[in-house]
Amino acid sequence: MLISEIFHSIQGEGRYVGVPSVFVRTSGCNLRCWFCDTPYTSWQQEGEQRTIESLIDEVVRYNCEHVVITGGEPMLVRELVPLTQQLAALGHHLTIETAGTVDLNVEADLMSISPKLANSTPQGSEWTARHDERRYQPDVIHRLIADYDYQLKFVIDTPDDVTDVEHWLEGFPAVTADRVYLMAQATDREPLREKSVWLADIVKTRGWRLSPRLHVELWGNTRGV
Ligand code: SF4
Repeated sequence: MLISEIFHSIQGEGRYVGVPSVFVRTSGCNLRCWFCDTPYTSWQQEGEQRTIESLIDEVVRYNCEHVVITGGEPMLVRELVPLTQQLAALGHHLTIETAGTVDLNVEADLMSISPKLANSTPQGSEWTARHDERRYQPDVIHRLIADYDYQLKFVIDTPDDVTDVEHWLEGFPAVTADRVYLMAQATDREPLREKSVWLADIVKTRGWRLSPRLHVELWGNTRGV
């Protein structure tokens, strides 16, 4: 499978923020969010073909319980099924980071779903219509939240995006407020801080959670840390 990078860091977002984790980043994505902070796994796809055995060997060398499989869109990669099965059998805690548009019967302790709202659509490109057709797949979301422990992380750029989150959640009445995280759209510290201030007020009124982006706070827009 095509792997963009593997690195040992800490989880920067959501429920396990601050937890040391090995990140395995697949390459390739079915979407083209304009704010994507990993274009090297999407429209500038790069990476190295790796076997499941070599990936497991490398992950095990870090001696780290938590493994985060991210992308790109890792659920596009069918070899993820045996990879996650083998990592789970070795006792690793697995988080899958997905946009929730592709279904795959992987092993996961946490399905970390980042639904893509209208605010993600790239404008004025051949990808505008394709992205909009693909970004909302309710059948996939229903299956993932029924069968896995999960969190929902929404990327928020402006206060108007919060109305979209509320509309989105109306389609999934089983979702409780404690599963919902808002994160500022930002790849630099200052805009992250500014947006997080007004996001804090919003989550207080809804009972949602504010997710930091700890990797941005610590390292800015630096890759592989
Ligand atoms: S789904 Fe994720 S990896 Fe794919 S384009 Fe959007 S932000 Fe980038």
